[in-house]
Amino acid sequence: MKKRPGLNIDHEKLRENMKTVISWCDEAGIDVAGVFKITGGLASAALDYEACGAKWIASSRLEQLARAKAAGVSIPMLMIRVPMLSELDEMVKVCEYSLQSEFTTLKALDEAAIRAGKIHNVILMADLGDLREGFWELEELTEVAKYTEEVLTGLHLAGIGTNLGCYGSVIPTEAKMKQLAEYAEAVEAAIGRPLEIVSGGATSSLMPVFDGKMPAKINMLRIGGAAFTGALEETCRIYGRKELKQLHDDAITLDAEVIEVRTKPTHPVGELGVNAFGKKARYVDRGDRTRALLAIGGADFGDPDDILPQLPGAEVLGCSGDHTILDIEDCEENLKVGDVVRFKLHYSAILHLSSSENVTKYETGEIGCLL
Ligand SMILES: *Cc1c(COP(=O)(O)O)cnc(C)c1O
Repeated sequence: MKKRPGLNIDHEKLRENMKTVISWCDEAGIDVAGVFKITGGLASAALDYEACGAKWIASSRLEQLARAKAAGVSIPMLMIRVPMLSELDEMVKVCEYSLQSEFTTLKALDEAAIRAGKIHNVILMADLGDLREGFWELEELTEVAKYTEEVLTGLHLAGIGTNLGCYGSVIPTEAKMKQLAEYAEAVEAAIGRPLEIVSGGATSSLMPVFDGKMPAKINMLRIGGAAFTGALEETCRIYGRKELKQLHDDAITLDAEVIEVRTKPTHPVGELGVNAFGKKARYVDRGDRTRALLAIGGADFGDPDDILPQLPGAEVLGCSGDHTILDIEDCEENLKVGDVVRFKLHYSAILHLSSSENVTKYETGEIGCLL
């Protein structure tokens, strides 16, 4: 019997998505770093990216990049979470490129690169308002760039970049992208040569690409989300973009098994305290309704709002760590114990499920070959 819950990864659809994203960027003169951290570092997803024309494989975790390299990915590895001092020696072995935002780290990285007999490529991050990583003052950015260029012989200053739309929810508007382009020009003036890379952000930075508003100077995007969940209703709504509809919304899906089917009240019976997560929850009394209990829970997918049942009329009512409750009163189909319910998944659910040891990955389609 197939082990459940199962995470289905359709490599044909995944590669079609990656190809589409890469062709959008290509038309705008932008190279793509394929970000695969959402899959928990599935090497096959990195191989797909490489086959589709990504120029770098990127992740926020060194272990994942090492795994992709061991699996035969041959394009350069880019570490996109600014690194810990404690991982620099490992990082220079695994990655050719990394994002950087601390002078202290750059100096230690220089020493690590020299120790390893390598030249490591760095992209200095500018924080343009999203308030996560990056230099805040242009002056500090240009000074550190100049120092890297002139003093840190183990490092090559490959470029600058920014990240938006993560902590601060800041939208990569044309103005923000122009600001990044101006920062790049200031750094180029300080070091007296052009930069190879100006990295304009992640999936959210596709929007200025769609609008034809991306400054020519921006020549790299680091894309993960779009290729995996770009076409989901909610993603399209958030970004308000019909272009994303060209992508598949089911390259990765979840199968969960029914373990109980029963008609019960919708309002809990008894004195109410807190739920499994220590929270006071609210319950709407809709009378008796039929529900299916599934053998998967918050421990696997995180937030129950991030899993979307592909069963007309079904609604996720909630979950505990290891159970999910599905209202199936309005479903045409009669579910029974042992049946499987399929879900489409939001970004955060894929991220959680990919790293849950209770979830078995089922990969279909050829991996890492041309379409
Ligand atoms: C995760 C991440 C990305 C990719 O983001 P998506 O929205 O999934 O495309 C790009 N850059 C950095 C620094 C990241 O941490």
